[in-house]
Amino acid sequence: MNTYKINTRVVIEINNYSTFGFGYDSDTQYDVAQICLNGHLVNEATKKSPQFSSKYCGKCGQPTIDKCPLCKSPIASRYQRSRTPSMSSSPESPVPFYCHDCGKPYPWTQTIIDTTIELISGEDELTPEDKKIITENLPDIISQTPRTPLAASRVRKTLEGMSGAGKEVFKQLLSDNVTESAKLLIWP
Ligand SMILES: [Zn+2]
Ligand SMILES: [Zn+2]
Repeated sequence: MNTYKINTRVVIEINNYSTFGFGYDSDTQYDVAQICLNGHLVNEATKKSPQFSSKYCGKCGQPTIDKCPLCKSPIASRYQRSRTPSMSSSPESPVPFYCHDCGKPYPWTQTIIDTTIELISGEDELTPEDKKIITENLPDIISQTPRTPLAASRVRKTLEGMSGAGKEVFKQLLSDNVTESAKLLIWP
């Protein structure tokens, strides 16, 4: 029976999540999220509320996915039971940057990385060494890791050599997509 299958799956996923440090409390619900290729959250609970799912994103028109394109593992979602799942993005249900099963960046994260690399590759003011530092430290400023403070301070130093338009575009591109602590260190 379908319902039984879904319940079993959710229980298995709860076990997976706790091993990934998500923690668990009784108010927290676990489900599978549907997100567009640009990273807009379309449905945070596709199992509980499939009526909110859609093939394309209402904000940008990109196709949506509910599993990792590489390993096919469902996109983890958690939200508070006391809050009704909805189509809107919320602080309780942030869009994940990396697949919890294979560790690879989701398409929206890859776009941030690719666009940033494309931007800095055309920056004459940056030395090849600066570009390497930014590229290598990107993953740690995009999501919070133990290396975030170090990565952010390295990126900030490379940006000191940049002036004018390039620096501004870099800020616009990244400021919405880096962790709060990295943001404070890079653009205090
Ligand atoms: Zn979208
Ligand atoms: Zn994966």
